[in-house]
Amino acid sequence: MKLFKSIYSLLFFSLSVGVSQANTGIEGSQLSPQISKFCERLDQKFDQYKWGKTECERFKWNHVRNSNLGTPLIWTVFGEENSKAAENTTIVMCGIHGDEITPVKFCWDLINELRDGHNFEDKLVVVAPLVAPDSFLIQSPTRTNGRGVDVNRNFPTKDWHKDAIKKWKSAHRSDLRKNPGKKPASEQETIFQMNLIIRYKPNKVITVHAPLSLLDYDGPTWSAKNGDSAKLLLHQMSEKSSGYKISSYPVFPGSLGNWAGKERHIPTYTIELPNSDYHKTNQFWNLFKESMVYAINHKMVPPID
Ligand SMILES: [Zn+2]
Repeated sequence: MKLFKSIYSLLFFSLSVGVSQANTGIEGSQLSPQISKFCERLDQKFDQYKWGKTECERFKWNHVRNSNLGTPLIWTVFGEENSKAAENTTIVMCGIHGDEITPVKFCWDLINELRDGHNFEDKLVVVAPLVAPDSFLIQSPTRTNGRGVDVNRNFPTKDWHKDAIKKWKSAHRSDLRKNPGKKPASEQETIFQMNLIIRYKPNKVITVHAPLSLLDYDGPTWSAKNGDSAKLLLHQMSEKSSGYKISSYPVFPGSLGNWAGKERHIPTYTIELPNSDYHKTNQFWNLFKESMVYAINHKMVPPID
């Protein structure tokens, strides 16, 4: 047991080393065999959807945790972790629901955009392009993760124990696609997202889904300290994506918007793309590119506590 523990801590340490290094998001270190395999699987999916090459190996991936099926849960960082960047840190997450195909390419388009000629002196951008890889990398992608859990109903929100299973059974008639899990934060993909937020303390979170065709916001109310700034960004994001519809979608027990936005007061923006049609990814990226670049540059004023 002791030996196991020391091997484990050594392994954890070596995996974590990459995380604390200064990072430009590109031209990373040598890929581990596990990440290489992951990139190969992703390349096959990109081929299937005719999305071109991932160039997955050109990014510097951070990797600490695996899914329950052993697939790496990865993220990349643009910028340096310092006090200047801490005033404007954005986390972008895609591929939370694997059958929503278009958001995965959306994050890929974003990281390709960010690696070319953007200045990260005063900001940090953390991108997790495929939060629930087991739901996307399989033959027929699913909403739920490899263990049949909807990871966007699995966050340990205050109402989870009281409402998550009850609401799932009543409002969703036990729809397996929305299964919140047996207990909160039971899934590695949920813990992965929580840990990114705890580690980087973002000033805003942007999460990408499909197909509801709307822009949703959860976070500080308008009268709160940083609420006006968050509201301004919501409207600017809409404006810069041809007036994309803003709509207030309810939060659910165990959802990210509830855990990060409502409970932790981190402005959380959900982009719901119009559909999951993999032919449309260029169109969607072109629609949101300006909006995303703008959002990443937007500094919340005054800064969040
Ligand atoms: Zn979704």
